[in-house]
Amino acid sequence: MEITEVRIKLMEDTDDRLQGFCSITFDDCFVVRDLKIIEGSNGPFVAMPSRKLTGHCPKCGCKNHLRAAFCNQCGARLKEDQAVKDQDGRAKLYADIAHPINSTCREMIQQRVISEYRAEQERATDPDYVSRYDDYYEYEEKPATKVHTEPAETELRPPHTPPGKNAPQKEQAEPSRKDDFGAGIF
Ligand SMILES: [Zn+2]
Repeated sequence: MEITEVRIKLMEDTDDRLQGFCSITFDDCFVVRDLKIIEGSNGPFVAMPSRKLTGHCPKCGCKNHLRAAFCNQCGARLKEDQAVKDQDGRAKLYADIAHPINSTCREMIQQRVISEYRAEQERATDPDYVSRYDDYYEYEEKPATKVHTEPAETELRPPHTPPGKNAPQKEQAEPSRKDDFGAGIF
């Protein structure tokens, strides 16, 4: 497996630890977005896309973020210590959505992204620089024909009639419509 493309969006505020977002493409066919490039004490590192963990409200069952003091739905007071602690005793508030499962793969992603990040910083000094991160990823093969999701209507519709005394009943309208429009078709 190979990383065939990296797209990066650099943050403008470089005082922030978050230096940018990026997407990576594996083998020209699978894209993972929303990786983060974060400035650490030993240089930049890559964080995998993640989601905020939630817990259920004991009163109404709604999902709330683990740090929430009150339920968003019913306002009930939530337990303070819902988060699972990691080895260092820090609350685990996020879970990775996509991630490597061995250090070889993690190193491969890390090295490639960081080297692209350096190159992107160079490119960003160009006044015409545009980030490609938000570009759409296009399918290689375009569908041959336009695909309709609904069948075409086979019958002509009668005009809408406002409700009133003279409006024809559905039972009456049906045959006359066919007489008018459908005779040749059926
Ligand atoms: Zn609740």
